[in-house]
Amino acid sequence: MLSYEQARRKVIEKIGEMRGARATEAVRVWDALGYVLAQEVKTDREYPPFNRATRDGYAVFAADAKAGAKLRCAGEIKAGDRVTKELWTETCVQIMTGAAVPPGADAVAMIEHTQRQGDEVRFERDAQPGQNIVARGSEARAGQAILTPGMRLGYAELALAAQVGAVELQCARKPRVAILSTGDEVVPVDSVPGRFQIRNSNSVSLAAQVRLAGGKPVLLGNAMDREDDLRNKISRGLQEDLLVLSGGVSMGKYDLVEAVLSDLKAEFYFDAVAIRPGRPAVFGKCGDTFVFGLPGNPVSTMVTFELFVAPAIDLLSGAEARPLPLVEARLGEPLEEKPGLTHFLPARVEWESARPEVKPLKWQGSGDIAALAKANCFLVVPAERKRIEGGESVSVMMRRDVV
Ligand code: AMP
Ligand code: MG
Repeated sequence: MLSYEQARRKVIEKIGEMRGARATEAVRVWDALGYVLAQEVKTDREYPPFNRATRDGYAVFAADAKAGAKLRCAGEIKAGDRVTKELWTETCVQIMTGAAVPPGADAVAMIEHTQRQGDEVRFERDAQPGQNIVARGSEARAGQAILTPGMRLGYAELALAAQVGAVELQCARKPRVAILSTGDEVVPVDSVPGRFQIRNSNSVSLAAQVRLAGGKPVLLGNAMDREDDLRNKISRGLQEDLLVLSGGVSMGKYDLVEAVLSDLKAEFYFDAVAIRPGRPAVFGKCGDTFVFGLPGNPVSTMVTFELFVAPAIDLLSGAEARPLPLVEARLGEPLEEKPGLTHFLPARVEWESARPEVKPLKWQGSGDIAALAKANCFLVVPAERKRIEGGESVSVMMRRDVV
């Protein structure tokens, strides 16, 4: 049985082999959050386009503005003002943050370090050459590529595109991810379940996780635990870029997903991983489409998605697979788990002290969605550890959606 790291590497290796040029689409910069860029974005001019003051104060010749010196204030420059006139020696000009420093001036003295009486400004500190000025072109040269293909667009990248006037961005088309749950007990979320039925919450969490990962969910509803229904709906799902199934991959008599995939000539790369929850997770390929069969217990579905499906969506989006959001924290109380499997326990990490501290939450096992809704991370208990003492350092995998 593969460890979760080996299983992730298998996903990355197999999907990496298949990576070709992806279809692209034009996306407006306002709508492009989470897309992966498929073009180069170049600057339209130098940044900053002029020598920019970074403080409110006085533009000076540094050599003139020594501590104790007094200079005549010859005017003011606001952000947005056209600036052409040179600064004269023995004078200064009042200047606002974001305004262009006049030619000749080589420093901006902060207003907090000056005293003004009428037209006369007295300096309390020596001005240093270059102080509080960002030189023209020092952030980016004209025509420089500042965003490159494969970059994921977050708010900073979008601001940069906006700054240079790139209103429309050529992005990789988001991979379409078919989501199919299975189970005779599963009913749509907008219906009232019978006493022994459950609502299809996995279809909702999976769609949310697909969106977060950068994919486009395609909801295919639920298949009954019957070969004919599974075969039909799986075949439909194989028409998308990726198929993610939930349920029907354990050892039960009615867990038929693997059998149906085999009938459809699937190739399997793994069908179990040494983790809890999520051990029966399946990854394979059917025709040209990669398929994940995730166990149906909601927390298992969520964990296995984060571990294995998220990197697949990264790669299918034309980006690199992002590493898991693992951080180190101090364990707040001792814990014991059965060794042999890596455990992912719903937990909360708090940052009240200098070092983050994590505590596992009480839970009833992998069906307990309520426990996970209180968690902001999963505490990772390594397979070889039976007991971990309070105070020891442990890894936690952050929930990307709430932290
Ligand atoms: P399975 O992996 O098919 O054995 O399912 C394990 C358990 O997960 C079932 O007993 C259900 O309680 C639950 N489950 C399965 N599918 C879903 C679903 N789509 N939404 C919510 N819970 C589910
Ligand atoms: Mg089932």
